[in-house]
Amino acid sequence: MTEPRTEVLPKALSIPYDERFSEVAFITGGKVYRLARERLGTVVDVLVKETPFGCSTPVLFMKHGERRFYVLPRHGEREYRVTAPFVNYRANVWALKELGVRRIVAWSGPGALSTDFRIGEFVLPADLLDFTKGRASTYFEDKGFGILRQSPPFCSTLENALGQVMDEMALTPRRDAVYAVNEGPRLETPAEVRMLRVLGADLVGMTLAPEAFLARELEICYHPVAYVTNYAEGVAEIDEERREVWIDEALELLPEITWNFLELLPTTTPACSCEDSMLRYKRRGLIPDDFREWI
Ligand SMILES: [Zn+2]
Repeated sequence: MTEPRTEVLPKALSIPYDERFSEVAFITGGKVYRLARERLGTVVDVLVKETPFGCSTPVLFMKHGERRFYVLPRHGEREYRVTAPFVNYRANVWALKELGVRRIVAWSGPGALSTDFRIGEFVLPADLLDFTKGRASTYFEDKGFGILRQSPPFCSTLENALGQVMDEMALTPRRDAVYAVNEGPRLETPAEVRMLRVLGADLVGMTLAPEAFLARELEICYHPVAYVTNYAEGVAEIDEERREVWIDEALELLPEITWNFLELLPTTTPACSCEDSMLRYKRRGLIPDDFREWI
């Protein structure tokens, strides 16, 4: 029997958080609330951050041994409450930036558009098709800037680190998959699934956009880790019990992936320019160094 943990309740904080707790955050998808609290490490603090874009989802301050990291459950802290179209992506990413985060790993449980993928299989997506509509997708609404390259859309440094960690765990994730982001919360129609396949998508989910694009606007490295949770409509029928088992087996590996990644990251050779994505605007004198003055 393990001792019950003292409950840490969220508190609201609007001022900058002085102590640099960690530079790494994991934005988590559905199905991982208990996993985060029970398996990833110890929750030492929980914070709802007030931002110029409203309040963030509660951010968990977590420790595992010497490792310190943030976990931001984008759909709500304890249960799946906020569906993808209603997540405040701008507040969440802004909150992490204010907390000093420089690297974000985003977990996501998409559906697969073909049986080339197994349920529970880990994938490091390489590209995005953005079919969201009506989401606030930029911090720069009336500024005349934010025209940022998206090739590649995700951070190469994090891809290398995640790829190495997962290869060493014999997970050998595919790295060429295209992830289509649908608005949701409804799932796709059979015709939409066929369309997405024709357009070159391999996976379909609801959450990586505009999250990835917002991270780049704030010069944060961002890379998703996808675990396939289902087949899209019309692709294949799977026994529900077996599906749950395969997903659980995948989620069981997430803590080890997380810890190994945190160990490896400081030794990974930088291979990206994410932290300079706004450099040309700085050089032209359009924005100062402090991101808080960019909006
Ligand atoms: Zn990067």
